[in-house]
Amino acid sequence: MITIDQTLLRDVLRGLIACNSINPSLVPGAPGEGQIALYVTTVCRDLGLEAELVEAAHGRPNVIATLRGEGGGRRLLLNGHLDTVAAEGMDRPFEAVEREGRFYGRGAVDMKGSLAAMIAASGAVRAHGRLAGDLILTFVADEEYASLGTEALAGTVTADAAIVTEPTALAIGIAHKGFAWVRFETGGRAAHGSDYREGRDAIAAMGHVLAELRRLELNRLTQHRHALLGRPSVHASLIEGGDGLSTYPSRCVLQVERRTLPGETVADIEAEMLEVLQRGGGGRVEVLFFRPAYEVSHDAPIVQTLSSAASRVLGSRPPLIGLAPWMDSAILGGAGIPSVIFGPAGAGAHAAEEYVEIDSVVRCAEVLASAAVEFCGER
Ligand SMILES: [Zn+2]
Repeated sequence: MITIDQTLLRDVLRGLIACNSINPSLVPGAPGEGQIALYVTTVCRDLGLEAELVEAAHGRPNVIATLRGEGGGRRLLLNGHLDTVAAEGMDRPFEAVEREGRFYGRGAVDMKGSLAAMIAASGAVRAHGRLAGDLILTFVADEEYASLGTEALAGTVTADAAIVTEPTALAIGIAHKGFAWVRFETGGRAAHGSDYREGRDAIAAMGHVLAELRRLELNRLTQHRHALLGRPSVHASLIEGGDGLSTYPSRCVLQVERRTLPGETVADIEAEMLEVLQRGGGGRVEVLFFRPAYEVSHDAPIVQTLSSAASRVLGSRPPLIGLAPWMDSAILGGAGIPSVIFGPAGAGAHAAEEYVEIDSVVRCAEVLASAAVEFCGER
């Protein structure tokens, strides 16, 4: 087994949590990835990796760190995001308080514990010997908002497989859902509330669309099931319309979210929502944003390698699971890089109390190091 430097891992995790990397697209004026990207670059260079900052967008850096192989092996990518959500309501979000085997702080589990595991793993691999293929670490910007970081990478970095190190409590994620944001608009005719001959009610018209969405949710969407992800779903998210109590509304806008299963395309969702609109009496509909679901085969080499590495380290084969939230693995998978999701345990991602289990970060690092050596090959 490859030995992880636990002192380094703890120091790095503390250093990562100490960097405020709240996403400025979520919290205007927040610092974003600048400071943490410099910190990661320095730490990686100190460990003997090549590391460079690459801007995904103005002021939004990714870090790409490479442990260069000797040649002739497969290239493995480890991917984690640098940004976090807001720290509202947290006592000491950037102090990395250590208590009962946990580190507390904003981003501890989502996902600075994972970044520390990636760094400690690559340091251990380098100390252990020479790889044949490259081990590439990508620390990306903006996953919590629009995934600018991984989007920018997908066109430039190539690899034979990727591990996205989002927290999974040391289970292996091989599938996750996607989503579509959809906007409906119904029209009416504005008139004084007393003038029923002239007025047409756009909000009542949207009521029919809502009823059709409910019918979709309760009927057709219950008929699709994925073994790991359950069924797809749709819910109404935002609604707006009306000008005053004594006025017929001329317009109503409804925005909904549809969560998708692997295989569902944007064209499928467009057709489905158009049918909802037509059954509901007409108007306009538009898919505003679409992120596909993702799935990798059980037989993919990276799934096999990670399973056997995790079995060796943890003493038993971890479960293959599906994850509900959308992740950057869909972008990497879409770029032709078979990807899995594997990371440490913790709780409170996006909540007022967030922690990561330190022991699981160490185990995660051991698994990543072992998987890298097996996947990339040794010289
Ligand atoms: Zn995350």
